[in-house]
Amino acid sequence: MDFNHALGRVFAAGDGGLSIYGESRMKILIAADMEGITGVTTWDQVTPGHAEYARFRRLMTQDVNAAIRGAFEAGAQEVLVTDGHWNGSNILVEELEPRARLNTGSPSPFSMVQGIDESVDGVMFIGYHARNGSPNAVLDHTWSSKTVANVWLNDILTGEYGLNAAVAGHFGVPVIMVSGDQTACAQVTELLGEMETASVKQATGRYAAECLTPQTAQEMIFTCAARAVGRLAEGDVPDPFVLDSPVRVTVEFCTSDMADRASRIPFTQRDGTRVSFSSQSMALVYNGFRAMVMLASG
Ligand SMILES: [Zn+2]
Repeated sequence: MDFNHALGRVFAAGDGGLSIYGESRMKILIAADMEGITGVTTWDQVTPGHAEYARFRRLMTQDVNAAIRGAFEAGAQEVLVTDGHWNGSNILVEELEPRARLNTGSPSPFSMVQGIDESVDGVMFIGYHARNGSPNAVLDHTWSSKTVANVWLNDILTGEYGLNAAVAGHFGVPVIMVSGDQTACAQVTELLGEMETASVKQATGRYAAECLTPQTAQEMIFTCAARAVGRLAEGDVPDPFVLDSPVRVTVEFCTSDMADRASRIPFTQRDGTRVSFSSQSMALVYNGFRAMVMLASG
């Protein structure tokens, strides 16, 4: 029920307690990935079928729960979670904070940011990782570790965080917090601007990090999420990430046969292992990008 209509923005300052946000319910979308979850340092931990995976999907659920609780604590009225890792079936729905809802499974129209539209007020990136080729970054990759070497949006070298932020930006929605290792947090803030960051591990390589324990990491995520929602209510968050139109996505594939397959998509341009595609619409660019990667992986 929305009993706050017509009151405008009223922000009750104080120790995290608030609030009435605008004329509508404050709605948060949590876009969750797994490589940047507390304790994760190897592919086995994030790959279904491996013995370690069960532990880490529970930790993923707990990191996400900390963000949900933080968001509600600070006045969010609606939290939607999207499971963006692998096949989108990692978060344990039976252990998810009951006030949230979960987008799970794949493929969905907007993949890692399924659920995004103009009704969302802010996006949180939980469990995010750095782009492919980054030093001191746990499981750094860009969308597909076996297929994609690099991605540019216009002339900006980016990772999944940039693609997903640009789709949110297409709908006028800002990214307001990120959790992951220190390099993921740094890349997100470098691209989008200063925001709340929960650096749950200090990566020293692709498969090594000094990790906080879950209890400590999740307290940090809770606090950052609450602060991020408080800052959103005050307007103290980065602007939505909107690219100059037309938006051009360029994918550098790992091998030329991958580029052969991706370039079968109409209206793409090919240059060596790079295939690019432009559109006025970032939503269309996102789907074109995913189509290229799916075709190239086949
Ligand atoms: Zn992932």
